Amino acid sequence: MMKTARCWECGRTTTDMRLYACPDCGGILMLQYEGVTESWKDDGQPGLWKYHRLLPDVPEACRLYLGEGATPLIPSRRLAKRLKVGELYFKLEGGNPTGSYKDRIAAIGVSRALAGGRSACIGTTSGNAGAAVAAYAAGAGIPYHLFVLEHMAEAKLAQVLAYGANVRKVKRFGTDPEVGDKVFGRIFEAARLNDWEVMITAFRYNTYAMEGVKTISFELAEQLQAPPTRVYAPAGGAGLYVGIWKGFEELHALGAIPVKPHMTAVQSAGCSNIVRAYEAGGRTPAPGPSTSLISGLQVPNPPDGTIALDIMARGDGSALAVEDEEIWEAQRLLAEEEGIFGEPAAAVSLAGLIRRCREQGGLPDERAVCVITGVGFKDGNRLLDMVAHKHVPLLEVERLDI
Ligand SMILES: *Cc1c(COP(=O)(O)O)cnc(C)c1O
Repeated sequence: MMKTARCWECGRTTTDMRLYACPDCGGILMLQYEGVTESWKDDGQPGLWKYHRLLPDVPEACRLYLGEGATPLIPSRRLAKRLKVGELYFKLEGGNPTGSYKDRIAAIGVSRALAGGRSACIGTTSGNAGAAVAAYAAGAGIPYHLFVLEHMAEAKLAQVLAYGANVRKVKRFGTDPEVGDKVFGRIFEAARLNDWEVMITAFRYNTYAMEGVKTISFELAEQLQAPPTRVYAPAGGAGLYVGIWKGFEELHALGAIPVKPHMTAVQSAGCSNIVRAYEAGGRTPAPGPSTSLISGLQVPNPPDGTIALDIMARGDGSALAVEDEEIWEAQRLLAEEEGIFGEPAAAVSLAGLIRRCREQGGLPDERAVCVITGVGFKDGNRLLDMVAHKHVPLLEVERLDI
């Protein structure tokens, strides 16, 4: 069996697994697995490592495990009927150790850093990736340095700090594109000079760590009798979308699933650069700032957007945008109708499904999976807003009216 990296843009292949980008054109490298003859699963291994044959090589002694993966797939008890969807399942990624699917990326990426003898990890985050990398870096006993937005969601920053990461805020990062370029430049420079691992959760920046995402597809293939007909995934930078697609693509190539699901990327209308390009038949994300209020999806220049658009152009997927109000409504429905508490960025997948159901009067032929990417506690401010209108009476014990 051979593991090689192939440039998505120019097709050049390399076996040098320390390169972050194509040595010829600077394009995005994607790992490929050839000559796989053994089973794609190895049941003796914990968490994601069960799928180590289809993941970057990491010696067993360096494989970090904090309880990530093997997340539940819950069938809808109420919304499927109400929305007239044939079958509907929720993949609960909030069950990962730091509360989001980013743990799958951090588990692989930080394990690789450990195996490669890196003395630290460095990167940037809007929140969840930072918490995930901080947790695994803590477990590995290596420092994690990161630059964040000046106005990062407070609860997310607190979680990153709780794991002991080294955080620096950067003025105008996230609003001024020039500042963003300089921050990324500094990260790669520091990584090169100090032999640190770059941990930014996009195929464009760390394709090896991103291989962790596709374990979502591997688990779905194991959890369902027949593969889903359609998977709804939120898209910010689009790495999640590309990773899930790649997982199904590999299983299909191995003959492990008979058909691939259609992949629908759902974006917030306030940051819908992939959707706008998709609708116009374009192959690069449409420019434009973000006005979305959904933490985690405010990515004006999605680093993996071109791959996502290529996937759609191949006929494997599509993209649609929903308003922030629809996202909050989906978050509420998920909690009140199914008992599932996701953060807004996670409820986006359900908001996309609901939008399609409204437009088509139901989806009776669909076996749909909505990926619920992060737990509701992640976005503390939104949680308070969500329940602000609810009145909680204070009673005298003599008058417990109920
Ligand atoms: C990071 C994140 C996303 C978006 O993933 P991208 O790869 O940036 O598209 C969605 N939901 C949650 C909870 C996230 O943490």
